Amino acid sequence: MKNSHKPIFVVQKHKARTQHYDFRIEIGGMLVSWAVPKGPSTDPRLKRLAVRTGDHPLDWVDFEGVIPEGRPGAGTVIVWDRGSYRNILAFKDKSSHRSMEQSLEEGVIEIELDGEKLKGGYALIRTRRSYGRRENWLLVKMTDATADSSSDIREARPESIISGKTIEEIEG
Ligand code: MN
Repeated sequence: MKNSHKPIFVVQKHKARTQHYDFRIEIGGMLVSWAVPKGPSTDPRLKRLAVRTGDHPLDWVDFEGVIPEGRPGAGTVIVWDRGSYRNILAFKDKSSHRSMEQSLEEGVIEIELDGEKLKGGYALIRTRRSYGRRENWLLVKMTDATADSSSDIREARPESIISGKTIEEIEG
């Protein structure tokens, strides 16, 4: 019996000119990406700005290290979380069923993450506020059994899931 391919997601903490978290999910063979200045939360009350950025190739999922000066995104990157996801809207009834491509186009994505740190439902919702060609979205934890408003996962789990190092330790 063959395993069907589960689409992947990754969250890379990136210390460049400004520090942010790159939230990337596999859609159509690419990592569709958002820069989230404050990072993901496990608290459904917090809406986190997520600015759409350029798609990345799938093999970027494992990148951790230093991007040299002069290159786009120069700075330090750790793989903060990684895993697979499920498209929640793919399992809805016919009228609300959406593929990931449709969800991206319509600006409403609902996924269930199975990462090492992030678990359960997350929504990405495109806002009407945009600046020039910039697409602003909001990343929000959905209310479910994995929601937790009592702790800040960024502080509780700052380390890379690959090396166990923090971004400061990688910087040296
Ligand atoms: Mn980045």
